[in-house]
Amino acid sequence: MSFIDNWLRPQIRQLDAYKVAKSAGLVKLDAMESPFSLDEKGLNRYPDPDATELKNVLRELLEIPTELDILLGNGSDELIQLLALAADNSSTILGFEPSFVMYKMIADFCNLDYQTVALNQDFEIDLAATLSKIDACQPKLIFISYPNNPTGNTFSRASIIEIITKTTALVVIDEAYYAYADDSFLPDVSHYPNLVLLRTVSKVGFAGLRLGALIGAKSTISQLNKLRLPYNINTLTQQTAVLLLQKKSEIIKNSEAIISLRIELSKSLAAIAELKVYPSQANFILFQATDSKGLFAALKQGGVLIKDLSSTLNLGDCLRVTIGTFEENQRFLQLTKKYYD
Ligand SMILES: *Cc1c(COP(=O)(O)O)cnc(C)c1O
Repeated sequence: MSFIDNWLRPQIRQLDAYKVAKSAGLVKLDAMESPFSLDEKGLNRYPDPDATELKNVLRELLEIPTELDILLGNGSDELIQLLALAADNSSTILGFEPSFVMYKMIADFCNLDYQTVALNQDFEIDLAATLSKIDACQPKLIFISYPNNPTGNTFSRASIIEIITKTTALVVIDEAYYAYADDSFLPDVSHYPNLVLLRTVSKVGFAGLRLGALIGAKSTISQLNKLRLPYNINTLTQQTAVLLLQKKSEIIKNSEAIISLRIELSKSLAAIAELKVYPSQANFILFQATDSKGLFAALKQGGVLIKDLSSTLNLGDCLRVTIGTFEENQRFLQLTKKYYD
């Protein structure tokens, strides 16, 4: 029995995935589609249920090894929800504080208990506290945002490996910012049966597509696939993504440009005495600011919207800025400097 067979709740284990009959070469009168189309994309028909072509392109872009499989979601948010649906209603989900807010929201949607372990002052995982929390609450799912949103850092790799090996939970490493980070757990997925990875194209130029991927062992993905709603990736997304995600070298070039802009903006912000800038492995920078509310309002008044995190636990006076173009970053920077003049 594989890890996931054991892990999954029995109703799902016993289910068969929703099957769509193969229709190639046949007169298709099985699905109540209209035979009339107003477009050239074939929108009168349901999408390819497996999005096979798109998966192949995504595999190429993300360099997913052949021994692993992919489950596509309407954004990775949908996949977070799908993972939560796989858990029993008596299960606990474990996360860190502060981390991505959707983990808690989705736990609440699904009526699951959500527990957190506080990150330390440097926003690093407190390993001892995490292991004792795992012991105490026996979570079914552990979400680790790597790099972490909203703090921007990656965590100690050794701590994460320790967590994976010390728990019976399914550990989900959410690499939404993989393109901007020095490290990834993709090579580790094959080695740990209770490890899966989340990726999305939202932060690398395609937020409008709504496309995320869960990457894991074939036996894991085939079980979780049963929980996916049929046709969750629409025809327009499939067709557009197949064309756009083939532009791998341009996507990588843009990510590299954003990393350079991030390094430059971090330096400029660090030179402002009223700010404390946290290290980032993502396409945003978290910083603590004297009178953060005032700065936030002045930026907005000046036409620049950033994110106010000052009311988040342990993020007092913290703001988060996404890396934009050089000109956009300059506009943000000039307004910030002016505010403290
Ligand atoms: C933005 C973000 C996501 C959501 O991605 P979508 O694919 O747009 O749903 C998931 N996880 C983290 C950590 C994020 O920051």
